[in-house]
Order: sequence, then C-alpha cells, then structure tokens
Amino acid sequence: MSSPFPTPSRAAILLDRDGVINHDPGDYTTCLEEFQILPTVLATLQTWKKAGFKLILITNQGGIAKGRYDHDAVDRIHAHLKECCSDAGAALDDIFYSPHHPDFGQSLSRKPGSLMVERALARHGLDPDRCWMFGDKARDIDCALGAGVKNGVLIEPNAPLSQYVQVPLANRR
Ligand SMILES: [Mg+2]
Repeated sequence: MSSPFPTPSRAAILLDRDGVINHDPGDYTTCLEEFQILPTVLATLQTWKKAGFKLILITNQGGIAKGRYDHDAVDRIHAHLKECCSDAGAALDDIFYSPHHPDFGQSLSRKPGSLMVERALARHGLDPDRCWMFGDKARDIDCALGAGVKNGVLIEPNAPLSQYVQVPLANRR
C-alpha cells in the first residue's frame, strides 16, 4: 500500500537575496523601506514552486556585524518578503542568513562558506543533484558548490529572474 503522505520534495531552488530577489543598490539594504522586489521575481518563484521545487533563501547580511542595521530590521524585511511570496503562490520554505562579516570575525556560515546550504540540505532532506543555486556573485555559487550543489546559475545583478526560469525546469532530474 502506498503511503498516505505525499513524498516531500527533495528538489529546491536556493536563492541569494540582494540583487536576485530585491534591487541591490550596491551597498546594503538596511530597512524595509529600501527593500524593493525586482520585476518578475514573484511570478518566477511561483512557476518553480508549482513545478515542485522548495524555495530557500540563503543570504549574507554582514551589515549586521558592521552595525548598519540589526536583526529586527532583517526580520521585518523577511516577514514582508514571506507575505509577498505567499500571496503570490510562491511561499518560501526557509530563510537562512549570516550576520557575520570578516572585518569583525570569521564564520563558516558567511558565503562563500557552505554552512547555510549544508543546513538547508539537511533540514529539508534535499538531494544536492536536484537543487539549484541562483546568485549574482561568485561566492553565491561557491557556497553551494562547497555543499555539493553543482547546479549554480550566476545571474546579472538586478536582472529579471524570469530570464532564467527555464534553467532548472529544462535540466531537472
Ligand atoms: Mg547578491
């Protein structure tokens, strides 16, 4: 008899935040008022969610270590983002962020360290071969590689994510 419980997806889209989800002005996004979701992001996430991918945010927030903003500011931004994604049928499954910056201390969680991705894989029972990392910096791709996720897509900062919507769909296993 087959299980009455649906098999949880072992596939996921791992997403950098600034420059991928929201407009990155090149410095930090320090508060909710500065947080602007880029065009096509929500529709693209919805397409991936419908296709069975989990959606997981993996973001460095070294501005916290620098004292530019605090955990509360990040929480407010992420609460807003979660609401927008849920409303769009693209609920985020998890958010990992690293508040560290090398000027103030080392952490394995800060990208290109792989700890956030390793935690995401373990917590959600993901298959690294069925995960994709989208980022706008080399360290985004490197942090995933370090955790065994070889499918990395380096995008242009602030580019419409819809340009890349087919990449995980066309190459999925
Ligand atoms: Mg970025």
